[in-house]
Amino acid sequence: MTKRSLNQLPAAALDGQRALVRVDFNVPLKGGAVTDDSRIRAAVPTIAYLRDHGARVVLLSHLGRPKGGPDPKYSLQQIVRDVERVLGTPVEFIPDLATGVAATRRLPRGGVALVENTRFWPGEESNDAALAKQIAALGDLYVNDAFGSAHRAHASTEGVAHILKPAVAGFLMEKELKYLGSALDQPRHPFVAVLGGAKISGKIDVIQALLPKCDQILIGGAMACTFFASLGLEVGKSLVEPDRLTLAKSLLTQGGQKIVLPRGATIAPSLERAAERRQVSSDAIPADMAVFDIDQATCDDFRARIMSAKTVIWNGPMGVFETPPFDVGTREVAQALVAATAKGATTVVGGGDSAAAVAGLEDRLTHVSTGGGASLEFLEGKPLPGVMALDDA
Ligand code: ADP
Ligand code: MG
Repeated sequence: MTKRSLNQLPAAALDGQRALVRVDFNVPLKGGAVTDDSRIRAAVPTIAYLRDHGARVVLLSHLGRPKGGPDPKYSLQQIVRDVERVLGTPVEFIPDLATGVAATRRLPRGGVALVENTRFWPGEESNDAALAKQIAALGDLYVNDAFGSAHRAHASTEGVAHILKPAVAGFLMEKELKYLGSALDQPRHPFVAVLGGAKISGKIDVIQALLPKCDQILIGGAMACTFFASLGLEVGKSLVEPDRLTLAKSLLTQGGQKIVLPRGATIAPSLERAAERRQVSSDAIPADMAVFDIDQATCDDFRARIMSAKTVIWNGPMGVFETPPFDVGTREVAQALVAATAKGATTVVGGGDSAAAVAGLEDRLTHVSTGGGASLEFLEGKPLPGVMALDDA
């Protein structure tokens, strides 16, 4: 599934051309101000390359989940200043599609415009063909750099790519496909997956897709409690999915030795009563306590397994990492991945909360995916519509 990349286009395909770039500028806002501009910064390599090659850049993105048409709360006008600051160049705002085409034609070579929130237009989320055609009129070529939106077949991510050609992957998209793709398709063995988070239900497809490819799947998070319960162990007041016990049991049968459950847990009466926490082995969880993290023995076990791997994929925190001291297990696993990376292993982290949990360590891991839901669907082996629609390499 190799897709044509931006740097595979000849210079003439870019010079003076209007490049319509789907980015992911779905940034967090507080009182109209951008609180984290990393998604804008992540798009810089693609935008800079286009400008350097004389293209006229037209940026498209969604922001939030507006319901039923334009809403100032979700207007991309709010982020124009930030895009200008990050790019170091003026950015023209295009409020609507009708007048937008003329505005894109007026852009100078190297100029940049930002179009209003794609989700303001009826037909974006239903991938309406007429809307896709209107969007396509804003450019002479299409570049998709929004990996985080690629699992959705929307007019601005999928429909437009069938109409506006060439349709290629931007550099951020290319990087995501390269690292997630090669980790899954040609992993160096031993290949270890670390899965955690709240629920098995959201991760069944990931477990099933990874089982035939991995050598080991290490399970942490609340998810482990559903596995414990399926084995008849007491899990107290822990978060479990009672309707998934049969499923958990069958995954354990299917996975055999490959599925590694935590040896023990860090438990407490409640999140608020963290001072009363203690560590117990997995078969000794009291009925009046809940599991909020893995214990030290599990950290050590997981670390040793991670350190002996050549490829590691991690999705889902080992505990309630947002609430210290229950972040210890997640931190230790993050450090084990850092150490494995230093030893030459390929380490890939996917998932929204998991990416947050390794914030600051990005440079010491092989790849931290920017696409929460998209990276999960990728790990599940599902084709991403926004990727499929791009030109083949
Ligand atoms: P990701 O976004 O990386 O895919 P998930 O959304 O699946 O990860 O899981 C993250 C959530 O799981 C976090 O909010 C975390 O608090 C929760 N979680 C992890 N372990 C536990 C636990 N033992 N009990 C309750 N919640 C947990
Ligand atoms: Mg999450």
